[in-house]
Amino acid sequence: MAQRGVGINTAIKSAMDVGIEQFVVPGVSPENWPVVAQLAKQFPPVHCTFGIHPLFIDSHSIDALPELEVRIEDSLLHSHGCIAIGECGLDFYQGRENEKLQFMVLEAQLKMAQRFELPVLLHVRKAHNELIQILKRHPLPKGGVLHGFSGSYEQGMEFIKCGLWLGIGGTITYPRANKTRMAVSRLPLERLLLETDAPDMPLNGYQGTVNEPKFLNEVLSTLITLRSETEQTIAQKLRNNTYNALQI
Ligand SMILES: [Zn+2]
Repeated sequence: MAQRGVGINTAIKSAMDVGIEQFVVPGVSPENWPVVAQLAKQFPPVHCTFGIHPLFIDSHSIDALPELEVRIEDSLLHSHGCIAIGECGLDFYQGRENEKLQFMVLEAQLKMAQRFELPVLLHVRKAHNELIQILKRHPLPKGGVLHGFSGSYEQGMEFIKCGLWLGIGGTITYPRANKTRMAVSRLPLERLLLETDAPDMPLNGYQGTVNEPKFLNEVLSTLITLRSETEQTIAQKLRNNTYNALQI
């Protein structure tokens, strides 16, 4: 949830009006960490995380790692501190020019997750199998969330075996996302949770608009049509999964 589109106050209020209780706002770059930390201080239902997102990696990212470590350590001493490390991960959607750098920055953040015993928020595009291999080398004490899951049942199960929950977002609202919809209908319910990735990933029918957290219930409605469990079981389980995964 970033600050594009409606103001943050409005986005939080309209989501709370439809029953959403808490929010996770991931930090993606050194410039962005103080912004999300301030949001978490200002709005008690908001939790922040700190990380270096693969799309924000540049020549300064290696130098930023010690700063990230200090920021996390310091934040854990205070209330409204960070609840996870991320977003971090791999993104080869636009090419692999900086793949070495992406691997290094990700591995450093996974080590921090081990050291601080924090969950991770993982982002991946065009690198599912490579991410699985890296996760096998860096076992995570608190697991984490693979956000915006889109993939096959087998890939989903591999991530779950690495201790992750799968973040299910607007992708499943698109009928053409057949592989992901089929996977999500069969993957274990106790390892799924809901997300919007607002302001990104608009739902089907809202293309070209700014996504908002209030649309979480529409992701839930779609998930209910794909699963065999009752609506109540799904809603309750997913809520608990979120709290377990992120320990909020
Ligand atoms: Zn992401």
